[in-house]
Amino acid sequence: MAESGVELFPNQIAIGLSKTGDAINSVDVRHTKTGIITRFNAPVFVDATGDGWLGFWAGAEFRYGREAASEFNESWEKHGDLWSPKVADNKVMGTSVLWNSHKGKNPSRFPSIPWAKAVAKNSDKIQGEWFWEYSNNNLNQIDDAEQIRDHMFRAIYGNFANAKKQPKHALQELKFVAHIGGRRESRRLMGDHIYKMSDATSGTYFDDTVVEEKRELDTHYQKKEKGHSADYLSTALFHHVDMYYIPFRSFYSKDISNLMMAGRCFSCTHVGLTGPRVMNTCAQMGIATGYAAALCKKHNSTPREVGKSHIKELRSLIGYS
Ligand SMILES: Cc1cc2nc3c(=O)[nH]c(=O)nc-3n(C[C@H](O)[C@H](O)[C@H](O)COP(=O)(O)OP(=O)(O)OC[C@H]3O[C@@H](n4cnc5c(N)ncnc54)[C@H](O)[C@@H]3O)c2cc1C
Repeated sequence: MAESGVELFPNQIAIGLSKTGDAINSVDVRHTKTGIITRFNAPVFVDATGDGWLGFWAGAEFRYGREAASEFNESWEKHGDLWSPKVADNKVMGTSVLWNSHKGKNPSRFPSIPWAKAVAKNSDKIQGEWFWEYSNNNLNQIDDAEQIRDHMFRAIYGNFANAKKQPKHALQELKFVAHIGGRRESRRLMGDHIYKMSDATSGTYFDDTVVEEKRELDTHYQKKEKGHSADYLSTALFHHVDMYYIPFRSFYSKDISNLMMAGRCFSCTHVGLTGPRVMNTCAQMGIATGYAAALCKKHNSTPREVGKSHIKELRSLIGYS
């Protein structure tokens, strides 16, 4: 808000857009408190919705799920199908619901909740971290978000109810249960470059590099896939890599001429997403696409033209020499 030339519109949810040919004209947003709908007209848009909503509405090509290992040569023999399947499927990393409890001053009771039993079974944990995560591949992370969140509620409240039956937890009280699930992966909008595992493992430096990171590839899978009884816990596989670089071509849609992407909906494979899907890298994408939007305006250009004709200027704005 302190930046000049930036206007912030909080409490607004995008609900649709209008298009002419391959370009977006405007995006409609609804105020979450007043219900008032506002139309934003602009020459260029950045989709930072995580779920790629603008691209989806505009008809941009997107991917959801895991590519076959052979499509981009993304196998990791040691972990086989847990890393990358032989045949493409719709598995993605899951949604986490974080929670904790603390010791109160007085003994407290917790109600019996039979509806939770089927998920929690006899487990009796009193807090949950990132690995309290659910990704049933019959459920879609976007369309079935509430069902996924509610499954986690049954795991959480059921565990706590089981714990509360034990005298040692008489003082324990629920402190915090997130009411919104934290989603890791859903739609990925396709750009001129699809960022993939070998881009990270080879450390390829692209002429149009605008984001860089040194963080291992880190994909999650349900513990149940390894015979564990709980289906609401996940674990991670880490593949070590050195510094890797992401080209600007992964941050604009190949189909929609005035649409860029920043965040986990950028153009990548499932494995390609596993490293850059975190805050530092996603924030760099925001910086790159923000500057690119300013250059689109300055040069009356599309993002693709900025990538072709003004990449030196873009990289210099970002801080590259
Ligand atoms: C449990 C958990 C733990 C994590 N731990 C870490 C960690 O320790 N370190 C780290 O770096 N990263 C961590 N991450 C990853 C990191 O939080 C995410 O990868 C990152 O936030 C992705 O950013 P994003 O902006 O692309 O997507 P999101 O975080 O999903 O943000 C998308 C935003 O767009 C908004 N939005 C969606 N649709 C609309 C619409 N139609 N109109 C308006 N707004 C909309 C959403 O409300 C949301 O605010 C964690 C993630 C999870 C789930």
